[in-house]
Amino acid sequence: ACTAESVAAALRAVAAVVAEHRDELVRLDREIGDGDHGENLNRGFAALVSKLDSSVPASPSAVLRLAATTLISTVGGAAGPLYGTAFLRAATSVGDVAVLDAAAVAAALESALDGVVARGKAEVGDKTMVDALTPAVVAAESVAATGGGVAGVLEAAAEAAEQGASSTVPLVARKGRASYLGERSAGHLDPGARSTALLLGALAGAAR
Ligand code: ADP
Ligand code: MG
Ligand code: MG
Repeated sequence: ACTAESVAAALRAVAAVVAEHRDELVRLDREIGDGDHGENLNRGFAALVSKLDSSVPASPSAVLRLAATTLISTVGGAAGPLYGTAFLRAATSVGDVAVLDAAAVAAALESALDGVVARGKAEVGDKTMVDALTPAVVAAESVAATGGGVAGVLEAAAEAAEQGASSTVPLVARKGRASYLGERSAGHLDPGARSTALLLGALAGAAR
């Protein structure tokens, strides 16, 4: 069941995956940005884990809210406020329930995407995390609508995000630091799209 404890465990899994891929994210961000994306995210999720170590909030929503406030105050850069907003909208979306079902998880992902778009104004094709998160939401909602469970929803979201991230390689960046490079941003995987795919992959792994 998708309780506060299991959401916390899933976020610990995300932190482990981010730590494991920290150098890869740094490398990707060095190619078309300033090279701090892996460091930034790792700092944020490590801070979240230490907060969860001292106490796990009582509801899934409160755990997601703790993730949001922690990421906003520790990640920095463009991705900090964007991921922070994503978790904040997800927290609001799930509301005050003790257990999340598949529909709630899919709706939370959609709210997260809405938050990222409201904050960053990127569209699909701009070579950002939106290119990973948008197909993830579409896939999640289709699985939830056809009666899939939480694990199935997250699995579909993770697969779609992976493909969406790969789709950023040939694109020219139109948002964020990479857009300063113009045409030279083409031929590189967007670090934020990659981290979104990793994040969803870790959530799916935790739900399995
Ligand atoms: P910074 O560029 O400030 O160093 P990070 O390196 O932490 O920030 O994050 C860069 C990532 O943030 C990019 O790869 C991209 O996916 C994402 N990003 C940047 N600007 C936007 C935006 N306006 N909307 C959505 N995502 C964005
Ligand atoms: Mg950066
Ligand atoms: Mg930076």
